[in-house]
Amino acid sequence: MSKIQMNTPIVEMDGDEMTRILWKIIKEELIFPFVDLKSEYYDLGLENRNATDDAVTVESAQATKKYGVAVKCATITPNAARVKEYNLKEMWKSPNGTIRAILDGTVFRTPVIVKGIKPNVRTWKKPITIARHAYGDVYKSVEMKIQTAGRAELVFTAEDGTVSRELIHEFKGPGVLQGMHNVSRSIESFARSCFSYALDTKQDLWFATKDTISKKYDHTFKDIMQEIYDNEYADKFKEAGITYFYTLIDDAVARVMKSEGGYIWACKNYDGDVMSDMISSAFGSLAMMTSVLVSPDGCYEYEAAHGTVQRHYYRHLKGEETSTNSVATIFAWSGALRKRGELDGLDELTDFADRLEKATIDTIESGNMTKDLALITSLENVNVLNSQDFIKAIRTRLEA
Ligand code: NAP
Ligand code: MG
Repeated sequence: MSKIQMNTPIVEMDGDEMTRILWKIIKEELIFPFVDLKSEYYDLGLENRNATDDAVTVESAQATKKYGVAVKCATITPNAARVKEYNLKEMWKSPNGTIRAILDGTVFRTPVIVKGIKPNVRTWKKPITIARHAYGDVYKSVEMKIQTAGRAELVFTAEDGTVSRELIHEFKGPGVLQGMHNVSRSIESFARSCFSYALDTKQDLWFATKDTISKKYDHTFKDIMQEIYDNEYADKFKEAGITYFYTLIDDAVARVMKSEGGYIWACKNYDGDVMSDMISSAFGSLAMMTSVLVSPDGCYEYEAAHGTVQRHYYRHLKGEETSTNSVATIFAWSGALRKRGELDGLDELTDFADRLEKATIDTIESGNMTKDLALITSLENVNVLNSQDFIKAIRTRLEA
């Protein structure tokens, strides 16, 4: 059998711990035998980030800007314990944060749906994709504890010295105060990433805020989304047969719970933080959640939504058997290869991505799965496989 050829390399970002182990097996069993893989490899494992003073992370993001498509393994975000464990020169920043800042992108998280793993919400038949605006609001707010009576005001001093003021509250006694902001540029990037991704995946886009209460702040989000939609995307949406739908956040929540799924739900920063955990746990497992970072100018970085599965890695190091779920990481690879195929007009490569996903889903639906899924499946006669054998079972199906 001749291998599928590629034209442009995908940017490959290797990572840490158990997911680094899975990464290697996935490549050997599911990619190399079928695809003549062209990739530009960046080792984002913590040791190499430390050795390169984290330059490797920046270089990998720049390569993504150059080529347009990347696939990333989960990576450790160092904390004090990791600084000690890996003898780090510094507490390096989160690679995902660094990459997102360079690509100026939005993260879309989508669950992989299989028969036998039922969502907790009965009506959900298709995946719900969450897009979270990842800048500002309460995450970049400043706060004050007020101890005595006094007057709190919003004060803005323009570059030319003009001052505008707005009374917040006349405090009669102790209380609390918070100031937050956002910037139009970031909201605009978010809007473009959401509209492009909706077109890309041919799904409706929902967006919600509390503009009835927040008549300037939230209303600005609503207005910017609408303006960009009307000016740049309305015709394309019509052509693709999809819609943009705006509603209030509480109405959105009620509709989501009664929906069938099959759309993208764009959220402000805080809503996205809360709702993405709600959606992923209600769909079953973090190990089945895929993630893609989409930049407003159309670059894509695919990854799993979970971390490096540290506890399984330590068991692996002790020589114990692990049963770590590789589905989200496999779908990161299939996502990246499909996108590369689409951009380069390589039908063989997009077909391969489809077949890889189908083989993965069929393997689970035939009762062969990792332990995390075996614990929650409604299927009977389940065969629990270890990390390696699960990937090998997918290969057997792919070859058939
Ligand atoms: P985690 O790696 O997501 O794992 C948390 C727990 O969830 C695991 O112990 C395991 O539960 C379960 N789990 C997650 N993925 C699984 C999979 N594929 N198969 C089976 N079970 C799975 O989160 P963490 O342990 O909090 O974080 C570990 C490291 O990952 C941290 O250093 C963190 O910085 C990093 N992280 C990276 C990313 C990223 O690169 N995108 C995201 C999040 C976290 P059981 O142990 O009960 O089996
Ligand atoms: Mg959270």
